[in-house]
Amino acid sequence: MSFATFFDFNGVLVDDEHLHQQCFNDVLVARGHAAVTEALYNERYLGFDDRGAFTAMLSDAGVLTNDALITALIAEKAVMYERRARAELRLFDGAADAVRAAATAGPVVVVSGALRAEIELGLAALDVRASVAHIVAAEDVLRCKPDPEGYLLALGWLRAGHSTVRREDIVVIEDSLAGIDSARAAGLPVWAVAHSYPESALREHGPAVIERELRALVGRLARG
Ligand SMILES: [Mg+2]
Repeated sequence: MSFATFFDFNGVLVDDEHLHQQCFNDVLVARGHAAVTEALYNERYLGFDDRGAFTAMLSDAGVLTNDALITALIAEKAVMYERRARAELRLFDGAADAVRAAATAGPVVVVSGALRAEIELGLAALDVRASVAHIVAAEDVLRCKPDPEGYLLALGWLRAGHSTVRREDIVVIEDSLAGIDSARAAGLPVWAVAHSYPESALREHGPAVIERELRALVGRLARG
């Protein structure tokens, strides 16, 4: 093995953060809570998984939560997301090419706070499922990004198959500040794509590379 690439999913490969925001609001409003604005969503909740986001949204609103409530909200949102995504999921330009280019260089892992079914739906839409060797989804971790748990699980999976892999032979592709922090806390090199945040905001979190478009990374990803 020469290299491995760990892709974040939402905001990197699929352009669906607006769908997630709408689905959170579908669930919150149906239960009598205030909707979350796009600005607040981007500033505070983007990058969390559903459990982390619902917990933060409700506690910010002064609502007491428990595991059963949050689990119910996640299930309601999953139904909303599938409905919306099947009708209006957008894919980032260059996303399929980026995954395929990375797969020519070594294993590709998706490390995401999205639910596994949502990731499978998006990878099928991109027609790159065969290029992805492993998925770490929301169901696999106890602590969402910016905690490093998801990236450490991906590293553990990789080392189980390729015991000699070094951290510097891996690259993480992220769009969110929480995602960059997560990967860096796992000791992994990060390249950021400015799909969700301006380059100046990304730069403060210290990625090794920042590009405006995924397509600019395709050549670098085929580095094997
Ligand atoms: Mg993301």
